[in-house]
Amino acid sequence: MIALRLPAFSIVGAMALMLAGTALAKPRKSSTAKSTATPAVAAKQDAKPNADWQVIKVGPRDYLSADNIAKFYGLLGNVDATGKIVVLNNGRNQLQLTLNSREAIVNGVRNWLCFPVIAQNDKFLVSRIDLAKTIEPQLRPQMIQRKARLQTVVLDAGHGGFDKGARSGFGSEKEYALDVVRQLRPLLQAKGFKVILTRENDVFLPLPLRAHIANQTRDSIFVSIHFNATSNRDATGFEIFSLTPRGAPSTADDALALSFLNMQAGSAVDAQSFELSAAVYHSMLGHIPEFDRGIKRARFAVLRLTKIPAILVEGGFLSETNDSKSVANPAWRAKLAEAISVGIENYRNVTEKKQRPMLVADYRAQDSGGITVLNLAEPPARLESSPAPGIVPVSNPPADPNKEP
Ligand SMILES: [Zn+2]
Repeated sequence: MIALRLPAFSIVGAMALMLAGTALAKPRKSSTAKSTATPAVAAKQDAKPNADWQVIKVGPRDYLSADNIAKFYGLLGNVDATGKIVVLNNGRNQLQLTLNSREAIVNGVRNWLCFPVIAQNDKFLVSRIDLAKTIEPQLRPQMIQRKARLQTVVLDAGHGGFDKGARSGFGSEKEYALDVVRQLRPLLQAKGFKVILTRENDVFLPLPLRAHIANQTRDSIFVSIHFNATSNRDATGFEIFSLTPRGAPSTADDALALSFLNMQAGSAVDAQSFELSAAVYHSMLGHIPEFDRGIKRARFAVLRLTKIPAILVEGGFLSETNDSKSVANPAWRAKLAEAISVGIENYRNVTEKKQRPMLVADYRAQDSGGITVLNLAEPPARLESSPAPGIVPVSNPPADPNKEP
């Protein structure tokens, strides 16, 4: 039917695919009863069959084809000349997948999938867990359910006391993180949030206690602020973390070396945490031109132990010359605090008003004068066929994996 097939592309090179015109003329109305199920639910094997999704089993894992994803979300497909990168796009959502890679670009920023995109029978396949936990929350953020209004933000400055965290020639992570949360507090209060700080001063706070403070709050989110360091002095840029979905590897884990028996879907908070990370990350990159290391997953203690939506921001590398100078600049940290506050506000807007969070391109357009806010409750007037986004350069060196930030 729809054919995002590899050989065709390796032969003809770059070529636009006219994907099943009628099916894609208009994105499916997600407001109908049938389509309100998330892919996680739709594709669950013990759930009643859903015609929207054709699950393909490869080894122990469930996959969906890029064709299927394109059709469901109303995206047009292009494969690049190498036949290894597929870009699905409808002018309002963009998804770039690379064969045999966990790296994906979703709406202009780097994402790390739990499992690599694979090919089978000439089709690109994406794991069901990635579709449900990474792609769906970004392509249809309005589908994320919340029970209550978001009222409280718990801000967590990483490290403190004897635990200085990362250090540069200018200062230490514990001081910078505390300064950012102190600057964030009034910004969030001005937006109507109640704000709680896990630490107000230069004191050591065990990780479980930070999570405990968060878990005492209601209608709340948890935002932990950190700065990076690694032995590789070239590593630079922003990254952001939310909890790894159940049954999946973290970004720093080797997806192929591990066996995952538990493939259950996670809780509703997973989706909220992930959406929060995406909303804040787009704002950070949209306000500050740092290197995009991506939206990542980890099982850091503060993410694992918190029972409310939780993210961990890494605001640059103290081990890298330019980043460390930026972070040492109070005005730069004020800008970072502003960007994070705007991201949090955007997260509130999607959960409460169904208003699409601004994307990195929206922030940059806003800076240059033109901005459009899309209402996701309404389907777009027309399906645009905009050019494929530029290929984003590969990541620079990784930070030290698997250690607490
Ligand atoms: Zn840290």
